[in-house]
Amino acid sequence: MPDNWPLAVRSVSSRSFASLFSAIFPDECRVCESPLQEISRVPVCFKCLHAPKPLIADYFCASCRTPFLNDAPLDENGLCGLCRRGVNGFDLAYSFGAYEDELRKLIHLFKYQKIKTLAKPLGDFLVRSIPLDQRFDLVTPMPLHWLRQLERGFNQSELLARPLAKRLNVPLSSALLRARATPSQAGLTHAKRRANVAGAFRVSNREKLAGKRILLVDDVLTTGATAGAAAAALKRAGAKHVTVLTLARVDRRPLWLDASGGKKSESVGAS
Ligand SMILES: [Zn+2]
Ligand SMILES: [Zn+2]
Repeated sequence: MPDNWPLAVRSVSSRSFASLFSAIFPDECRVCESPLQEISRVPVCFKCLHAPKPLIADYFCASCRTPFLNDAPLDENGLCGLCRRGVNGFDLAYSFGAYEDELRKLIHLFKYQKIKTLAKPLGDFLVRSIPLDQRFDLVTPMPLHWLRQLERGFNQSELLARPLAKRLNVPLSSALLRARATPSQAGLTHAKRRANVAGAFRVSNREKLAGKRILLVDDVLTTGATAGAAAAALKRAGAKHVTVLTLARVDRRPLWLDASGGKKSESVGAS
């Protein structure tokens, strides 16, 4: 601003600049509410951005990676009951952390508060969760029904999957589509969730999927019913192998855990 402008104009302008600035760059961490020390497009402090830790467990299914408190639910091949019965439609599932605390808050800010700049730091968690020995031919985001996407303005899984595909140097495929909107899965039993999403997905281009190893990207794995239905549609279209990759998974162990807790040692993700 020129020095020769009247003082009052300069003071009003700098005030409005400051309020505009704080509207674009909030001064408070949106997770812990502490003052932000640095100017960033991500309105979350360094501590909260780096707080999520990989999910760890002593026992987990070799296929869906569900963590367990002991080995009772697992057979001699390390498979849980659902995987044994072939109920999960995918081959493998990896998640970075448990869907709680800061990770849950970050996902909510990203998805519901629409802070799209979180796609980058959240995407870094996904990269850390991919097993080093796995190779993929295609990366596919979990599709949203078009009406839901119109409502939200974006598909959070696509924002995560696109840079991931680039980083893995693998094409991004949008062949998987949501054929119908499904009612909320909240409060439904596992079987009802599966029934709710059965037939909810279709594939637009079968030729592109035939024989392919696919990495299906989503934000949260709850029971795996939605991911399973999506994976089943990919398999029906000829996909050879489907790995599900999510930022977080719902960890039910705290519900089963006795007060003494469990010794935790092994990372469920691949990081
Ligand atoms: Zn914070
Ligand atoms: Zn399993």
